[in-house]
Amino acid sequence: MLRPYDRVLKGFRGDVMKGEPLCRYTSYRIGGPADLYLVPVDEEDLKGLLRRASEAGVRTFILGNGSKLLVHDEGVRGVVVDVRKVSDRIVVEDDEISVGAGTELDLLAAWTVEEGLEGFAELSGIPGTVGGAIAMNAGAFGRTISELLTEVRALTPDGREVVLSKDGVGFGYRKGLEGFVVLSAKFRPERRARELLWERRREVLKLRSEKQPLEHPSAGSVFKRPSGDYAGRLIEEAGCKGMRVGDAMVSPKHANFVVNLGGARASDVRALICEVRRRVEEKFGVDLELEVRLWGFRG
Ligand SMILES: Cc1cc2nc3c(=O)[nH]c(=O)nc-3n(C[C@H](O)[C@H](O)[C@H](O)COP(=O)(O)OP(=O)(O)OC[C@H]3O[C@@H](n4cnc5c(N)ncnc54)[C@H](O)[C@@H]3O)c2cc1C
Repeated sequence: MLRPYDRVLKGFRGDVMKGEPLCRYTSYRIGGPADLYLVPVDEEDLKGLLRRASEAGVRTFILGNGSKLLVHDEGVRGVVVDVRKVSDRIVVEDDEISVGAGTELDLLAAWTVEEGLEGFAELSGIPGTVGGAIAMNAGAFGRTISELLTEVRALTPDGREVVLSKDGVGFGYRKGLEGFVVLSAKFRPERRARELLWERRREVLKLRSEKQPLEHPSAGSVFKRPSGDYAGRLIEEAGCKGMRVGDAMVSPKHANFVVNLGGARASDVRALICEVRRRVEEKFGVDLELEVRLWGFRG
């Protein structure tokens, strides 16, 4: 009888890497090895892979640009599926656009701005894929990706294709599509003067570089915004700015960013996050909720 990973690989056509260090794929530049790192070449390849993994009882981790992840120093036991090559096309259909999940969100923002299509300029500079953005319901400057959506084409964990309407998903603040693998999404943007959109995009990119510590690796905001307040304000007033564990530091520029100064380990980032959370709870009685996704950690 085939062993579980051999069953998963049977008929797989894409790249296969064993023990691939995930620090190569995360914006944090942190993370140990995946048992298997697979890059499916198209939708059929991905469907087959998910079906076989589900049948073999092998855990899968879906990876986009890795810009919202903290991966354990020991990595993950299971299969990491890099879905970026499956589809990264933008197709125009009358007044709708269909966008592959592997498309860079910032590239979509730039393209829509140039085409005079409204809504995406505010998402400029978010370093994720469209699939990752839908999974996280990413947003910025008062705009979230779910507001712009009409429907999502996705796969169930065992590889069956489904089409979900926006209302069927139940999006919320940083609550995206869970339990599915996004293949593509449809949007119906309004038309607007290109010059205005370019102006908005430039403004957004400028604000990002002024307010965010883009000079160091990070995964963006660590915590979600608590109701009626800002995580950054609470963290700053709890005296955590500049606090360090190893090479992990609460950014002096933006307190809701924990940055990697070069040699940070996942355990350093995790310990720092726990301490920040403890201090905010102690001072304000607010239990901050993580926005960063943890892979490979217990509990
Ligand atoms: C400097 C910086 C600034 C940032 N600014 C913002 C911001 O302003 N607003 C914001 O919302 N976020 C921000 N982020 C976080 C991040 O870029 C977004 O959350 C982004 O949408 C994540 O996409 P990704 O492709 O990198 O996903 P990944 O990090 O690869 O994955 C994140 C989650 O999405 C899942 N996922 C990925 N692709 C798919 C798919 N195709 N189908 C199903 N699930 C999938 C993963 O399994 C994981 O659970 C920032 C990050 C950085 C580093």
